[in-house]
Amino acid sequence: MSRTDRRRFAAVWAQSLMGTSYVPMTSAEVEGRLLGYTDELVAALLSEPFDPAPAHVVGDDLVAVHFTSAESLARSVDLLGERFLAELNLPEDSGRRQRVSALQSSLCTGFVHAARKRTLDEQEAIRQAVLDARDAVEQALRTSEARFRAIFAEAAIGISIADMNGRILEVNSSLRRILGRPTEELRRMTTHDLLHPADSEGVWRLYEELVRGERDQYRIEKQFIRPDGSRAWTELIMSLVRGEDGLPLYQVAMIEDVTDRKMLQDRLRHQAMHDPLTGLPNRALFLERLTAAMRDRKPEHRVALCYMDLDGFKVINDSLGHHVGDDLLVAVSERLALSVHGADRMVARMGGDEFVILIEDSASTEQAIEVADEILDTLVEPIRIGGHELSVSASIGIVERCIANQSAAELMRDADVTLYWAKAEGKGQWALFDPERNATEVAQYRLSATMPAALEREEFFVEYQPLVGLREFGVVGVEALARWWHPDLGRLGPDRFIALAEETGLIVPLGRWVLRQACRQAKQWHEEFGEPAPFVSVNLAVRQSRDPNLVSDVQSILRETGLEPCRLQLELTESAVMGTADEPIEALGTLAKMGVRIAIDDFGTGYSNLAYLRHLPVHELKIAGSFMSGLRDPERADPVDARIVGTLVDLAHTLGLTVTAEGVETHAQARRMADIGCETGQGFFFARPCSTERIRAFIADHVS
Ligand code: C2E
Ligand code: CA
Ligand code: CA
Repeated sequence: MSRTDRRRFAAVWAQSLMGTSYVPMTSAEVEGRLLGYTDELVAALLSEPFDPAPAHVVGDDLVAVHFTSAESLARSVDLLGERFLAELNLPEDSGRRQRVSALQSSLCTGFVHAARKRTLDEQEAIRQAVLDARDAVEQALRTSEARFRAIFAEAAIGISIADMNGRILEVNSSLRRILGRPTEELRRMTTHDLLHPADSEGVWRLYEELVRGERDQYRIEKQFIRPDGSRAWTELIMSLVRGEDGLPLYQVAMIEDVTDRKMLQDRLRHQAMHDPLTGLPNRALFLERLTAAMRDRKPEHRVALCYMDLDGFKVINDSLGHHVGDDLLVAVSERLALSVHGADRMVARMGGDEFVILIEDSASTEQAIEVADEILDTLVEPIRIGGHELSVSASIGIVERCIANQSAAELMRDADVTLYWAKAEGKGQWALFDPERNATEVAQYRLSATMPAALEREEFFVEYQPLVGLREFGVVGVEALARWWHPDLGRLGPDRFIALAEETGLIVPLGRWVLRQACRQAKQWHEEFGEPAPFVSVNLAVRQSRDPNLVSDVQSILRETGLEPCRLQLELTESAVMGTADEPIEALGTLAKMGVRIAIDDFGTGYSNLAYLRHLPVHELKIAGSFMSGLRDPERADPVDARIVGTLVDLAHTLGLTVTAEGVETHAQARRMADIGCETGQGFFFARPCSTERIRAFIADHVS
């Protein structure tokens, strides 16, 4: 019986066992194993005396190498019965067949024993594992329970557990302290009993959502009132505990006492939001409240601001000292606080001597005016401070309107503008915001802001209007009049920009520019028409007449253009001729000495004080156009106007001045003015202001 035969048998065996059990070996390893068993079984078969025990070991071993399935056993037993003797070329006889049967049953018992033992072992292992696990869980539970108890009892944070009806089941000592109530009392309470009037709607809405199981946790700030009336500020975290079935079982509240933190915060906030001197709310708090009032109310709701500023506070402060100033502010703030009452109102100090009164629920403009009147009234009584009787007044800007489409910033800006109007209109009174006036001012502001650039871009130009001799109608002089060609607004007359330019100071460079243009033109007229050419008359604004560089500017322009000084006339109004101390402007004397003509413009509209003209180096008086309306024709003429003008002309002549009548629109007016004795006239009757080309043509026609 060759080794090859045994190998072949082992291969057949391996083949038949394939797929019957999961064995962690390669097929070569399996074949090697089975070859070993084959050797043992052959040895047992041939043993003398016969002993089947090695087959028992093989059965046992099959289980050990994981051929544990019934199928593996069945096939092995089958193979050992039928093919064993055939494959191994062993002659068959009854003795051999008996031996094979014995080997089969021995292998079977070995296999079954081993298999059962293995199952038992596995079961035991599982049981032990289960036992171990249970012990561990119980142990863990016990520890966590103990740990939980300790945390619950000792926690600095207040904890309560309540059932889903809100009945309080357990509270720890911290919570008893926070709420100021003993356990027994709390156990008789429900969560609803802990409601606080200051709780927002949201607090209880969150609670209801938790109770309905719609949310598992929320965190809020909440106040509690203790039986002794003291209050606790807390931060509260409410959590839901669900049972195994997922249904809500308990509510757990964790409450941290943040009262100290809150109080500190409140104090810091108070400090940040109040004026330390007067104790009134400051600008920040005022703006916060105004913003909130506008945010939280319906668009048709009205608010009012009375923006107040003390008149002449700076003088008091500077002359009597800051202490008196401070005391005055305190006294004023006290009077304001007394006169303004109502939960919807607030008095705030905006800084310096500015206060504001906010009316959150304004009934009407009239009501806001009443408030302003009351404030002005409370200040009428003089204020006593350290031996001084101080009379103070204030100006108030009132803004009262619907909050729709408004911002706090807009209200403040308009209140500020209105306060400025109140001040400008004379002190001790209020002014009411006027949107039209504001729109005009805003437009003017915009205009004045663009003016410097416009001057640089040469958007300005000059038109000319002749001054005509009233006897022979020859052109004597030509007035230069400034215009602005605005890129958006088109042609603007001087009534739109001269006053603005005076305010901003731009009139100085603008006036210089006009002067240069005019002198250049006058030089050309002189070159073209010779001696009879007209002089040019240029307007000089008040601001220009006070400009320290006036004389040098005029000199350098004359030099630069080559114009003779006697061919330039400067027109000044009466107020421009007088210095600040009612002294004539010195520069005028210098200019006059240089040979420049000086004219008084718009005479009769200002002081009309002829007396001082005596001391002025003036050459000409221009009588304002407003007198012209009364001088149409001799029949319908206003006798008073006629007499005034007559007197003016006589006086001017006595002083050696020539007289020009302005605004001459009709032939009758021209004749009347000639009769009265005016030398020259200016007006639409002769020519409207016109371009350089047209004035040149006019001069050519009228040069004498
Ligand atoms: P003004 O100096 O009294 O200039 C005469 C104004 O009367 C001009 O108005 C002129 O167009 C207008 N006028 C002339 N004839 C008649 C008339 O028959 N009837 C009527 N109703 N009006 C007539 P304009 O050009 O609008 O100038 C207005 C004012 O602007 C000037 O008054 C002058 O005070 C000022 N202005 C003009 N240009 C300048 C300038 O370059 N510098 C300065 N500082 N002021 C200027
Ligand atoms: Ca003028
Ligand atoms: Ca004039």
